[in-house]
Amino acid sequence: MARVGFIGLGMMGDPMCRNLMAAGHDLTVYNRSQDKMAPLVAAGAKGAASVADLAARCEIVITMLPDPAAVREVAAGPEGILSALAPGKTYVDMSTVSPESSREIAALTRRTGADYLEAPVLGSRKPAAEKTLVILTGGDAAVAQRMEPLLLAMGSKVVHMGEAGAAAHMKLIVNQIMGTILCVFAEAALTGIAAGLSAEKILDVVQASAAACPVIRAKGPDMLVGRVFAAQFPLRHAQKDMRLAVAAGDAAGVPTPVTAAAHQLFSIARERGFGDHDVSAVLRALTSR
Ligand code: NAP
Repeated sequence: MARVGFIGLGMMGDPMCRNLMAAGHDLTVYNRSQDKMAPLVAAGAKGAASVADLAARCEIVITMLPDPAAVREVAAGPEGILSALAPGKTYVDMSTVSPESSREIAALTRRTGADYLEAPVLGSRKPAAEKTLVILTGGDAAVAQRMEPLLLAMGSKVVHMGEAGAAAHMKLIVNQIMGTILCVFAEAALTGIAAGLSAEKILDVVQASAAACPVIRAKGPDMLVGRVFAAQFPLRHAQKDMRLAVAAGDAAGVPTPVTAAAHQLFSIARERGFGDHDVSAVLRALTSR
């Protein structure tokens, strides 16, 4: 099997690496904070000394980083991934980034003679651990096809969306819808509670109505009743995704007033210190508890 390198051993990267190893891949890992490498090295991965060291040692390099700026720094910065890419290697970025950023990194990667594939994921930490991520691919169809068995070591379904940028865009669409639903749910439910309705009945009736949806089913009880916001999908990522979705609308010439309002709420919640809490903590932009 090809030597695979993985950079970005955070909430998602760590379980994805474990699944790659479970599938028998020869895995090398690197993380900016090196303490996050130790558990994976103890589980059988090789540790790289730097980003460039990892990219030099591996045929396939995967990144799972927070945002376009981090991907740019790690891929195209000094001693970055691109400095060690060459024909025959493939760079797969699984981070959630903007379509423009992905297209830029695709062009820079191809200049090295290596292949590029964007492969953002649907699903959070639990699906990552359970290998049930849905993985969207964007880039050359032949590269996507060649990478599919590797991607299926980390997820249960791969959907090829088209050229570089298409998968990044599709991922933002999903998060844009989920994020705005959570905002309006928080706003409407808090209004009902303030007017004397019970949180439990609001949840019960919403889920029995045409407004029922999986994200409210999954997050509603902790959000409204428990007011517990243990991170499944951190709010700081949702805030970033709303920002990127508004930018995507601007680039396409499509107004995004609802997403812009959601971005504002996520920004307020983040400023209030809820960035590392679950996305459902957007409710805390509207209430003190
Ligand atoms: P995370 O827990 O914050 O981990 C990010 C990793 O990237 C950390 O290991 C961090 O290293 C590293 N990193 C951050 N900035 C860096 C930089 N400038 N240079 C080098 N390394 C850097 O993030 P995550 O939750 O795993 O999410 C990763 C990506 O997946 C994001 O794009 C997110 O939107 C997407 N995603 C997340 C979820 C989810 O539920 N969490 C679901 C779907 C998609 P340090 O340890 O040094 O900080």
